[in-house]
Amino acid sequence: MHDETIAIHGGYTPDSTRAVAVPIYQTVAHDFIDAEHAGAVLDLEVPGFHYNRLNNPTNDVLEQRLAALEGGTGALVVSSGMAAVSYAILTVATAGTNIVVAPQLYGATYTYFAHVLPTLGIEARFGVDDRADSLASLIDENTRAVYCESVGNPAGNVVDLEAVAEVAHVAGVPLIVDNTVATPLMEKPLSHGADVVVHSLTKFIGGHGTTLGGAIIDGGTFPWEEHRDRFPGFNEPEPSFHQVVFARDFPTRPFVVRARSVQLRNTGATLSPLAAFQLLQGLETLAVRLDKHESNARIVAEYLRDDDRVGWVSYAGFPEHPHHELLQRYLKGRTPSIITFGAAGGYDASLAFFDALQLFKRLLNLGDAKSLAIHPASTTHRQLRPDELAHAGIRPETIRLSIGLEHPDDLIADLDQALDRARA
Ligand code: PLP
Repeated sequence: MHDETIAIHGGYTPDSTRAVAVPIYQTVAHDFIDAEHAGAVLDLEVPGFHYNRLNNPTNDVLEQRLAALEGGTGALVVSSGMAAVSYAILTVATAGTNIVVAPQLYGATYTYFAHVLPTLGIEARFGVDDRADSLASLIDENTRAVYCESVGNPAGNVVDLEAVAEVAHVAGVPLIVDNTVATPLMEKPLSHGADVVVHSLTKFIGGHGTTLGGAIIDGGTFPWEEHRDRFPGFNEPEPSFHQVVFARDFPTRPFVVRARSVQLRNTGATLSPLAAFQLLQGLETLAVRLDKHESNARIVAEYLRDDDRVGWVSYAGFPEHPHHELLQRYLKGRTPSIITFGAAGGYDASLAFFDALQLFKRLLNLGDAKSLAIHPASTTHRQLRPDELAHAGIRPETIRLSIGLEHPDDLIADLDQALDRARA
């Protein structure tokens, strides 16, 4: 089926109640039939739900729907995008190993890699940029994954995933891609060589700024058994979970089974079933929302480009954008509704613009039905030093806009009055 249909129906077969909406299974645990059944479910020998830190029927529908949309073999939903990012990394990396990273990242991801992973003995090696050769030169025998955002937040760079996947695979490591900004309706990283996809469901997929969530999707493609020494966690009995050998026992989706059984089970960043239900509501309308997000953003980007109160605009939908060709290749010519720009007067003017906004909300989110603005250097990326900011593709005066679903004339009117204030 097509994405629009999967987003509405994927993963859900009504039970005898014939409920049309996915029910919210607000329960902590599930009744075992008997001791033998309990043992078989806990050993993962038969499918079934047991304790909702690990799995839940409402969450399961969301997982199946996301796996289908990304073209994966299985998914795991968790309580936030950052939980998904950290669980994905900790599913492959241990103390003494490293992750090779494209630097244009969401602020907390950058901080997690640069400052939190090293406290666990895991080194994050940042490329000079997102190009395959810059990343390839950093990979060595201790590397456990290459990581990037398919479209960087807020830099808006579009990564050449096939080239990056090639260097990762030649070295024998998986490529993990954060596909939050593009969404699976604009880009499917697994079809371009990625092995694992992560998401913040909090953004376009939920779409209404009400609910945090994250997901990991397994492409089922990485040959873990060919790299036994590098990935003992996939090839040796797991002492923390019933001696399961993930690559052998779950050959189609070992990554998400390991992430669930080791990370989620033992550290518990569980998505609540109510949150899963709300995210499913958002997902149902993702396709129509993205169309409107996209057309509104183009109107706003063109307005900003033509205005002399604006110093510069970065919008990958413009032919002159350095990643425009990659956008055609990877996002089927579609453009996410994220725009960055700087006011003509630089830092002070950008902040005056930001403070003057009336309809745009000043907040830490993107992908909402409402239009949003943020000044990354003082907010999302506040923890970054000036050199780290530049590395992440952010200038001191950068304003990031996430264009919502309002009437574009009202958005332009708000931008117009705020740009007047910036010039003043
Ligand atoms: N990845 C990207 C690209 C993001 O933009 C964000 C949040 O803005 C995250 C991950 C983290 O997601 P969450 O806020 O749901 O933890």
